[in-house]
Formats: sequence, structure tokens, C-alpha cells
Amino acid sequence: MITTNPFDDDKLHEECGIFGVYGHSDAAALTALGLHALQHRGQEATGIVSFDGKTFHTHKGIGLVGDTFGDRAVIERLPGLSAIGHNRYSTQGEPMMRNVQPLFADFESGGFALGHNGNLTNARHLRRELVRRGCLFQSTTDTEVIIHLAATSTAPTVTERMIDALRQVEGAYALVALTNEAMIGVRDAMGVRPLVLGHLDGAWILASESCALDIINAKLVRDIEPGEVVVISADGVQSLKPFLPRASRFCIFEHIYFARPDSNLSGQSVYEARRRIGAELAREAPCTADIVVPVPDSGVPAAIGYAAEAGIPFELGITRNHYVGRTFIEPAEHIRHLGVRLKHNANRLILSGKRVVLVDDSIVRGTTSTKIVEMVRAAGATEVHMRIASPPTTHSCFYGVDTPERSALLAANHSVEDMARIIGVESLAFVSMDGLYRAMGRTARSANQPQFCDACFTGDYPIPLLDQEEGDTARQLSLFRQIA
Ligand code: SF4
Repeated sequence: MITTNPFDDDKLHEECGIFGVYGHSDAAALTALGLHALQHRGQEATGIVSFDGKTFHTHKGIGLVGDTFGDRAVIERLPGLSAIGHNRYSTQGEPMMRNVQPLFADFESGGFALGHNGNLTNARHLRRELVRRGCLFQSTTDTEVIIHLAATSTAPTVTERMIDALRQVEGAYALVALTNEAMIGVRDAMGVRPLVLGHLDGAWILASESCALDIINAKLVRDIEPGEVVVISADGVQSLKPFLPRASRFCIFEHIYFARPDSNLSGQSVYEARRRIGAELAREAPCTADIVVPVPDSGVPAAIGYAAEAGIPFELGITRNHYVGRTFIEPAEHIRHLGVRLKHNANRLILSGKRVVLVDDSIVRGTTSTKIVEMVRAAGATEVHMRIASPPTTHSCFYGVDTPERSALLAANHSVEDMARIIGVESLAFVSMDGLYRAMGRTARSANQPQFCDACFTGDYPIPLLDQEEGDTARQLSLFRQIA
């Protein structure tokens, strides 16, 4: 069994999901459920750290949450009223057990567990400095940089050490930490990555998305604000604003694709935002066709919006198999082209003889789009028009999302007309940047001060890419190799 590439879904991938509970007798079990609801944000590995008032307990595993935490005996080995957990999809750091979070360190003043969603853009620089000063890194993740900075800080409390550490890092991050005294949640000063606060039976919850609150029946209290540090302890929730304020730049791709459609981010329903993007697309790029068909699952809400606005029937002309998993026996060369059918299959009864508008959320390399279009034509469609519910993805993300190199992004190297020819469609159109912002409830994108991070469409990176600027793009951070 090997990890495949032929069946790659050709999407950008969110790197991580985080979750935490403070003050509940079922803290670890609730954390496992929350991580399960956040599985879409990372499927490579998962971990939980709990605290029973005296000792920290941890369990981690490679693979899905259900495989690692499905056994009651495992949860029973994670006692305590507080717990934090993490789902990982790695880009920073190799896929191995020593990189699975939450990471843990013993400080003079007590234990410190940390889970991180995002990416630090000066981590390599800081890591080199710390290694020079004698720090011994155990993992190859950028998250460990925060732990070493906190460990070497002279601030008196763990919370202050963490803040001291965060003042030295650049990047996009949402963090959940657990100490002897408190659970701490933090968002970077621009609030690029999401984090919400919830409440359940007197307990406080932190989660990457509100769908993880729903699964445990917790109430959404509010988003953690950009640059906010919440310290949740026996004294309640204390909100700190220790960083220089910066204009908020939430990741717009969370609304387009990453977040679950049943989540609510920055006061907006993700599902409704996607439907509105589809309606904008129908106004901007109308099409004469018989049916609107989504590329499931991510294209569904935008296709519903497109179909309703255009007055064209919506049909589920492609079915997605949800049980593909991330590993599969790699097929022989001569049947490799069938790989896409592991995940998607066209419904001939619906597509045959029809002019089809295919709606998808984005085009990354274009490989899957090409195969899906071939499949739809083979099922008898007479015309295929593609409509994309995001602007062309022309730049890589350095803020915690797995993106191919720029050279591999189809839109970075081809005009829309060329892309239409490569993918094999009669017409191709993307929602405009202003259309996207209108769907988010803004009048247009403000060029001087964009309201979201949209760097993968514009190249306008709101947080400095310090390691990149220093020419440090090396992937190898350690000479040590662990056999997974
Ligand atoms: S570059 Fe794109 S994917 Fe990355 S944070 Fe910004 S909007 Fe999100």
C-alpha cells in the first residue's frame, strides 16, 4: 500500500484543524468528536493532550481521528477536565510521528502543550538562531519554534512567555495551548486562520470552525478576534490584545473551499457565501445550457447559486465516492488513467445529449478538471462549459495551505483561453475578484486595503515572507529520518 498521486484531487489543502475543551469531565472524548468534525482540515495524523490537574497525558496516531481515538480505552487514558487536540495535513515538516501535534514541553513553571494551524514565515530564520543558541529541536515543524522561544523567554508566566514568543514570529496562525493553569487560544494579528470560541455546560471550547461545536452541541459564542489572546482558566475567559493592531485579512479561500459549508466564519454562513459566489458567477459569466452540474462536493453550493440565478435546472450529474481514502494500491500504468473514477463518476442518464455548465470551486493544476470534462463528454454531453467559483489561482500560499509551486499552477502560466483549450471545454470563466468580494458582502476589493487575504489570486501577500526573502526555501530541516 502506498500513498498515491494518480488519485490526487488537485485541490489546495488546509494544513490543520485545532480544538480544545476547558472545564468538562469528558474533555478528551469531546475533543475527539471535535477533531472528527474537523477531519477535512487534515487527515494525515491526529493527537490529543489532556491535563488531570497534576499530569499531562497524550495519545497520537498517524491517520484519521476515528482510527486513532475510536477506542474507548484510548479516551480513558486521557483523563482530566481539559484537553486540546490537533489534526494535521503536513507541508511544513515531514510526515512522521515526531511532528504530530499537540507538541509538549516541560517548562520550569509547568507543562505546555501546543497545537497550531497555519504557517510561520520566519520559522527557518528563528530556528537557525535557536539552534545556534543551543536549542535541541525534536521535530521539523515550525510550531516547535514557538515552544523554544517561549522556553527561552524570561517572562514570569507561561502565558506571558507564549506572548513573548509570538511577538518574535511572523506568519499566519491560530493556536490552542494547554498549561497547568489555563487553555489559551490565539489568532495572528491579521486573523488569517480561523478560531472560534464556544460554550457547553459551563465548559469553554476553542475550535477552528463552528461545525466542530455543533457535533458536541456547544453554542457558538464568537470568533476569536485577530490579534486576540484568550486565556481560559478557573477565573473565566480573559481577553488580551498584546500585539500591534493590524488590518484584518481573513483567508478568503476558507469561504471558497476549505471550511465546511455548515460552518459559520466571521459571522457569515459558509454555505450562503458559496451560493452567493455562484450567483455572482451566473451574472458575470452567463451561459446557454440545459443543466448546471457541480463537481462534488465542493462545487455544490456555488452550482446551486449559479443555477438559481441563471434559471437553469440543477442536476447532480456527477457522483462522488466518499470512501477513497488517501492510500490505494497504485494501479498498473495502462489503467492509471482510470484513477479519477475512483472518486468521481458521471451519470450518463442525466448528461447524455445535454449542454452542461460544470461548476467547481477552483482550478489548481487542472489535471482533475481535464479528466472530469473528458468523463462528462464520454457520458454524452454535447457541450461542456466550465464556471469556477474563485478567481484564477496564480500564486502559492505560504500561510498554512498546501499549494503546488507557482510553476505548477495552471492559471499562473496560461491565459483563460489557453486553460479552456487545455481542459477541453467550450468556454471557461472565473468569478472576478470584485464579484468574489461582493459575494462576501463588500462593495468591491479595496486595492489599498483589501479586506481579506487573497494572495493566491493576487500575489498581494499581507504578511512578509521573510524566509523566502532570505532565499531559505530548503525543505530539509533535520538530518534525522524516521521510518514512518
Ligand atoms: S494565500 Fe490564499 S489560501 Fe493562503 S491564506 Fe491567503 S487566501 Fe488563504
